[in-house]
Parts: sequence; structure tokens; C-alpha cells
Amino acid sequence: MNSVQTISGIQARNYIDGQWVASARQFESLNPADTREVVGVAPLSTAADAAQAVEAAKRAFETWREQSWVRRAEIIDNFAQLMKRDLEEMSRLVTRECGKPLNEGRADVVEALHMAQYVAGMGRQPNGFAVSSEIPAKDAFILRKPKGVIVCITPWNFPVAIPLWAILPSVLAGNTVVFKPSEETPICGHKLMELFAEAGFPPGVINIVHGTGEEAGDALVKHPDVAAILFTGSRAVGKYIQQTAAVDLYKFVATEMGGKNATIVLADADLDIAVNACVLGAFKTSGQRCVSSGRLIVDRKIEPKFTQMFLDKARRVRVGNGLRDDVFMGPLINQDGIAKWKHHNARATEEGGEVLLDGKHLTDGDYAYGHFVEPFVYRFKQYKQSTFCLREEAFSPHVAIIGVDGMEEAVRVYNDTEYGLSMAVITEDYRKWRWVRDHADYGLGYVNLPSIGAEVHLPFGGVKSSGNGHPGAEGIIDSVTHRIAFTVNHAREIVMAQGLSTKV
Ligand code: NAD
Repeated sequence: MNSVQTISGIQARNYIDGQWVASARQFESLNPADTREVVGVAPLSTAADAAQAVEAAKRAFETWREQSWVRRAEIIDNFAQLMKRDLEEMSRLVTRECGKPLNEGRADVVEALHMAQYVAGMGRQPNGFAVSSEIPAKDAFILRKPKGVIVCITPWNFPVAIPLWAILPSVLAGNTVVFKPSEETPICGHKLMELFAEAGFPPGVINIVHGTGEEAGDALVKHPDVAAILFTGSRAVGKYIQQTAAVDLYKFVATEMGGKNATIVLADADLDIAVNACVLGAFKTSGQRCVSSGRLIVDRKIEPKFTQMFLDKARRVRVGNGLRDDVFMGPLINQDGIAKWKHHNARATEEGGEVLLDGKHLTDGDYAYGHFVEPFVYRFKQYKQSTFCLREEAFSPHVAIIGVDGMEEAVRVYNDTEYGLSMAVITEDYRKWRWVRDHADYGLGYVNLPSIGAEVHLPFGGVKSSGNGHPGAEGIIDSVTHRIAFTVNHAREIVMAQGLSTKV
């Protein structure tokens, strides 16, 4: 089925067992830059729809697991070709559905294409290896086996790249998938599903179920035939899913969650690099990246100069519809995003932050139908412990500048949150970045760069409450396979390891 475009946008359906399935209830996906535009309509799936998809995936697993890794990789390669063909169309769709400027929408799709290319290449890589046994006549192997039905639950802010981090390694390894895209970006999920179908994945290998987390998502998490859940999203939902799935001892859960990331600017920093890195880290995707820097931890010796330069640039950030070339910051995703931004801003003031840039909620003229806000920047000349605004994810252009005395205080302040996702340090001193590298808590570290900038052949994940240690992208093959030990005896007698007697 090619997308059906109606006056109310693209009509998405669930895709279960190779069939496009309509549903009685639907919901609309609106353009956050102009909510008069309905990007599409998608099914509001029930627990019964979710169960049907899991059952289809379970049936398909029996035959899909029999294919070679090479054959499965060939279908992933077909999919990569289709992504290339539709790159521009998909980029515009990302911008229309989740608001980020077109250059960022394109980067999302390009990252997804890279993931497809990377995973297709893995099909001809070793997926196990032989190891030596203590007993010369034994051959021992470490092999990977697929787990079964894998549920992929994804957020809205990278609606194309993040689903592929999870889905493609899963199917390469012989698993089958039920994909539950975010209810904020169902049409991007639908477009991916169309391409999966066109690429030639057999019925039931990849299924999509649209709808809310509370209904469709929850039913998938609780389904007894699900072997693993790959979740990316907020800490609250990740925690709930981990706790809920723990009831079934066999269920594996990988959670990738939020962050309260920071860029540390040391006294010897190149200030131009520092300011650029901080503006990109703080305001790309309007601060709605899991790796956005909501804290700029700056050595007091250079803080006044840095702050002046940072504010000069932040004031020039152009807010608007991401389809316009000159826009740097698109809208927030919805009204809840605006409410969260306002709440964090109010708390920053109550908690003693000095407001330096009092960004406004924009509601006039071109902004009237979108969720637009400007950057909000405040300062704590001294670090204040136990502040909500410096510890909790704002997921918006809400940025604190925090003055510190030297590298060690910078890292103490950096570590003072429950999160540990992304950290950047700006310095010209290799001894300093090395010390910071080894003492800060994070899963993604950068030197003289912003705290954003993933590439698919690197692991993507956090520590502490940002993730449970099963990173996405590069490392995810470990989450979607069981590593098994397999030993074969070539002798005509049984000889045991550790000198274990075989005498009966
Ligand atoms: P969210 O947690 O609200 O939703 C994520 C997904 O979970 C959605 O598909 C949603 O429908 C589903 N969901 C919600 N409740 C559920 C439930 N009870 N059971 C099953 N599924 C449920 O997150 P969001 O607003 O879409 O995304 C923003 C969050 O994601 C931020 O916290 C951000 O930091 C985080 N994020 C993390 C990473 C990472 O790799 N660490 C990447 C991107 C975004």
C-alpha cells in the first residue's frame, strides 16, 4: 500500500501478519509548527490489536529464524535502497510531524539510512566464534541465537532513526518485531512500515501497532509471548516498563531514557568552540534531545566572558517553522512540552537562578498555531545543591549557566543528578579532558564538541537512571540475541574439563 493522502493527511493503519488493518478508533497527528495541518490519522489500537500483532510475530519467528543471516541482511539492504530513494520525502515528513528544522529532519533520516547500511553489512560478519577447550578433542563455540518476539517502543524526537536502531538488528538476528511508534509521530512510523513491506520482509516479521503507551504499549509489555522489550523514552515510562516486565522472569528489557546533560567549559577553553558547542548542545531540536545540554558548567575565571558571548548567540537563535531555511529552532512537540518548559523556568526563578534571557512563549502572527518558545537562560554563580531546575530534565530550551572553581568542582556538579547520559568538556589541556573522561558519569562523552552527535557504529546509551546498561545502535545485537555455549566432542571417549572423573 502506498500512503493514501486525504484532506485529513495520510491514513496510517496497523500492519499485522502482512496485512494493513483498519481500526474502529483513530487519532490525529498534527504538525506542531501549525496545528491546523493534520499530518495524518492513525489507529488507536486496543490490547486485542497488540495481542494479534504479537501472535503474528510469534508464528513468523518459526520460519524467519531458519533464514541465513546473509539472506536477512539482503532484505535489510533492499530497505536501505528504498530509504535512499525516499530520503527527501521522509525528511520533510519528519519536519512536518515532529517540528525539527529540515536539516535536522534530514539528519534523522540519514542516520536511519546509516543504520540500515551498517546492519546489512553485519549480515556477513561473524555472529559467533570458536574458542579452545581444555580438552583437545573438544571444539567449543560461542554462538548467537535469536530471542523470539521483540517489542520496540520508541519516542517521537527521532521518529525514524531510533526505531531502526532497535528493529533492524532484531530482525537481522532472526527475531520478529512488533513496533509501537510514538503517538506523536505515527505517520513517520507508518512510512517506515510501508518501506519494510516493500523491501520484502515476509508477513509477520515486522508488525506495527499504533496508539497510546497506556493502552497498546502496556498490552505489548505485558504479553506473555514477548521475549524482549527495547524501549527508548522518558525515565518515568522506562522505570514502569522495567518494573512491569520484571514479573515475567524470562523477559529482557533494555531501557534508554532521559538525561540532564552538561557541557563543562574549563578555564583554558577556546571560547569560540565553547560557545558554538553550547549553543548547538542546548538549542538543536529546541532542547528536545535526550542528550541536550541543559547545564553549562563554566569555570568562574572565564564565566562572565563566556556568558556574554553565549547570550549574544542565543539571542540570535531564530525560532519558526522548520521548513523555512533560516530557522534554527522549531516548535516544541505539544502543549505539554510548553507547560514543562514554563514549569522549569518558574522553578529556576523560585530556586534563586538569575534570569539572563527570559524567553517568551510566542503566540502572535506566524506563531499563532504552533508550539513556539524562545531560549530561556539563567545563571547560578555558585552551585546550589538539591535544586529541581539543575537536576531534572526539561526537554526544552531551558539552560542553566553554573559557575565553578576548576575541573574537580565541575565534575562534582556534573555528577550531581540521577542521570548519566551525555557529557562534553571544552579544554585545550589533554590531561584535563582525560581526568574528566575518567571521573564523570556518562555513556556518551565528547571533547571540544557539543553533547550531541551520535553515529550508529558507536554504542548509544547512558548510566545511572539514563539507561540500564544495554545501549542502542552499535551494541544492540547483544540485547536481541542469547549468547550460547556449544561444545562438541570428537574423541571416542568422554573426557571432562577440570579433571572431572568419568569413572562410573
Ligand atoms: P515517553 O516516555 O513519553 O514515550 C516513549 C514511548 O513509550 C512512546 O511510544 C509511548 O507511547 C510509550 N509509552 C508510554 N507509556 C507507556 C506504557 N505505560 N507502556 C508502554 N509504552 C508506553 O517519551 P517521549 O516523550 O516520546 O520522548 C521523550 C523522552 O525520551 C525524553 O525523556 C528523552 O530524553 C527520551 N529519549 C531518550 C533517548 C535515549 O536514547 N536515551 C533517545 C531519545 C529520547
